[in-house]
Amino acid sequence: MKYYAVIGNPIAHSISPRLHNNAFEALGINSVYSRYLLDISASASELRQKFFALGLSGANITVPFKEIALECADAQDELAKKIGSANTLVLNAGNIQAFNTDAPGFMMAIAEFKDIKNALIIGAGGTARALAHALKASGAAVSVLNRSTSRAGAFSEFCFFTTQDFKASKYDIIVNTTPAGLTFDGLPCDESLLNELFSSAKYAFDVVYGRKTAFLSLAKEKNLKAKDGLEMLLYQAVLAFEHFSGKKNEREKIEVAMRKALSL
Ligand code: NDP
Repeated sequence: MKYYAVIGNPIAHSISPRLHNNAFEALGINSVYSRYLLDISASASELRQKFFALGLSGANITVPFKEIALECADAQDELAKKIGSANTLVLNAGNIQAFNTDAPGFMMAIAEFKDIKNALIIGAGGTARALAHALKASGAAVSVLNRSTSRAGAFSEFCFFTTQDFKASKYDIIVNTTPAGLTFDGLPCDESLLNELFSSAKYAFDVVYGRKTAFLSLAKEKNLKAKDGLEMLLYQAVLAFEHFSGKKNEREKIEVAMRKALSL
C-alpha cells in the first residue's frame, strides 16, 4: 500500500482525495490519498520532514506552499523551476522530485480555445505565473495586470501593468487568476475596463471553479466563449496521477474516473 496526500492550509475543502482515490480504484492500484493541514508558517525543510514523516510516496501541494514545495525537493523539472513553484511531489528512490502540473493542466483545459495570439492575465500570484509561462510556451504574447506592483519582479519576461498604468488593448483571451468570486464578491478589476477588454476578446477563463462568478457572467453577457477552472483542476490532477502511478498510457481511464468523482 502506498500513501499520498494533498498538503495545504486550508485543506478541508479539497476534492483532490476524491479524484485520486477514484482513479486508484479504477486502475486497481493499491494506494490511498488523504489530506494534510500543514502549519501556515511551515518552512521548506518542515514540509520535507512532514512528507517523509507521513510516509508519503507522493503529494499535491496547494496554497500557500507551492513555492516551498519547489525548494524542499531534491530535483525539480524545468517547467516548475521556470515558474518558481511546484504542485506535485513524487518520491523516487528516496529523493523528492517536484513538478508543476497546473500549467499544462490549464493548457489542456483551454484546448478548445483556438488561435490564441495574445493573452491578458489578471492577478499576479503563483497561479498567474504558471499560466503566463504555459501561454508563452504555446507561442502567445502574455500581459499581466495586477492591482499592485508587489509581485512585478516575478514577471520580468512578460508585459506587466498595474490598474493605474494600464491602457486596454486587444487580447484573444482574458484570464482571471485573482480570487474574485471566491474570497470576495465582484470583479477582479473595474467593470468598465472589463467591458472594454471583453468587447474585443474571444475567450474568458476563470481559475475559480464551482461558483457563478461575476467575471464569467459578464464574459457570457458579451458572448465570449467562457470556462471556469474545474477542468484545469481535473487535468492538473490527471497529470499528477500519471507522475504518482507511472502510468503514462492510461490518461483516458484516469480522466474518466476523475470526471466521475467530480460529479459525486
Ligand atoms: P495568490 O494569493 O498567489 O495571488 C492572488 C492574486 O490576486 C494576487 O496578484 C493579488 O494581488 C490578486 N488579488 C487578491 N485579491 C484581490 C482583489 N480584491 N482585487 C484584485 N486583485 C486581487 O493566489 P494564487 O495565484 O495561488 O491563486 C489564485 C486563485 O487561483 C485562487 O482562487 C485559487 O483557488 C485558484 N486556483 C485554481 C486552480 C484550478 O485548478 N482551477 C489551481 C490553482 C489555483 P496582490 O499581488 O496585489 O496581492
